[in-house]
Amino acid sequence: MRRTLQRAFPPRNVFVQPVGRDGTGPQPSRVLARRRKLCHGRRGQDGQDASRGAVRQMHGVQMAASEATWPGELPAGLGDAGHPPRAELHLHLEGAVGLATLNRLGARHGLPKLAESDLRIACWADSQRAFEHVLARLRTGQDWFDATLALFDRLAAEDIAYAEASIMPVVHAELGLPFAALWPGLRDALAQGEAATGRRLRLLFAVPRNAGAAAGFATLDCVQAANHPAVVGIDLAGEERADTILPFAPVFAEARRLGLKTAAHAGEFGGPERVAQTLAALAPDRLHHGIAAAADPGLLRQIAAAGIGVDVSPRSNLAFGAVGSLAAVPVAAMVAAGIRVSLSTDDPALVGNTLPGEILLLGDTYGLDATAARAVEENAWRNAFGAGGAAP
Ligand SMILES: [Zn+2]
Repeated sequence: MRRTLQRAFPPRNVFVQPVGRDGTGPQPSRVLARRRKLCHGRRGQDGQDASRGAVRQMHGVQMAASEATWPGELPAGLGDAGHPPRAELHLHLEGAVGLATLNRLGARHGLPKLAESDLRIACWADSQRAFEHVLARLRTGQDWFDATLALFDRLAAEDIAYAEASIMPVVHAELGLPFAALWPGLRDALAQGEAATGRRLRLLFAVPRNAGAAAGFATLDCVQAANHPAVVGIDLAGEERADTILPFAPVFAEARRLGLKTAAHAGEFGGPERVAQTLAALAPDRLHHGIAAAADPGLLRQIAAAGIGVDVSPRSNLAFGAVGSLAAVPVAAMVAAGIRVSLSTDDPALVGNTLPGEILLLGDTYGLDATAARAVEENAWRNAFGAGGAAP
């Protein structure tokens, strides 16, 4: 397995490079009524969610981005805890499976019990080992069902109303779990988790950059095999320092033709030139990390002018060794440049972070005032692919 992983997961691995609205919920509260007002004019005529729009696009029925709608009402009380409704966009499902869940899955497969120290990373070199533990325990559709339901529990615990999680189907297939066996567990957990918690989870299928364009097209095949409204986009991850961007241009073009949104990891370990190349070659809708862009003021202006959302994960950058301190993550500079910055955890089970904890950094570490910090929180809704572009 190690050799397979090394092929599939280059250093700073692929995941992290590695990789419901239901209408039957509680009756609307005053807060919900207010949210409806905020959503007025954005909801589709039929009330269907934005990701269904993506599927319509996949079937050739075009839908303008401005018609995308928040995918349903929130349960009463959600987001009433003194903060805006939270959304998280840069979250690898494989890096979000907590220790207790991993040990439950591991026992199923006769694997040794893990300790916290097996999972947490304190430097870049730790990530390969940690992800090996995770991948060894995500071996069946049932494992994916359990891991996905556990993610819904995390969303509820952190009061996250909407999340987009990346998964990397081609890597799991290479490790012996074909997408056709993985997907039913994930799909069923999406329905059950949304019904149980009211949280919305949408999916990006991630492409391991080091695996080449063929893996990109194989990933698009998985999107089409799933044919599910929760799958809203693709995400290019993996080793960005190698010159591996150009081959993915046709993959991104095909994704757009299918009506999918596109994200790309760039500017985490690579320099500003990698960010510039990614923008030029792939024209992604959203960048993940992107922090290296701060070294080039012209590039910052370009990203801001293009209206490209950049989702930043400071504690992940520190844990993986992309920066030497939290203060070195250029959140304030990116915000000052007018970039639509949002925050996420990236791989919370490995980094040991939470979304509320990342949000606290805005004032404590990056010196943003309350208005600017709140704008960053709300940017998560603007940068989201399946949430309609505005907080509910
Ligand atoms: Zn990531």
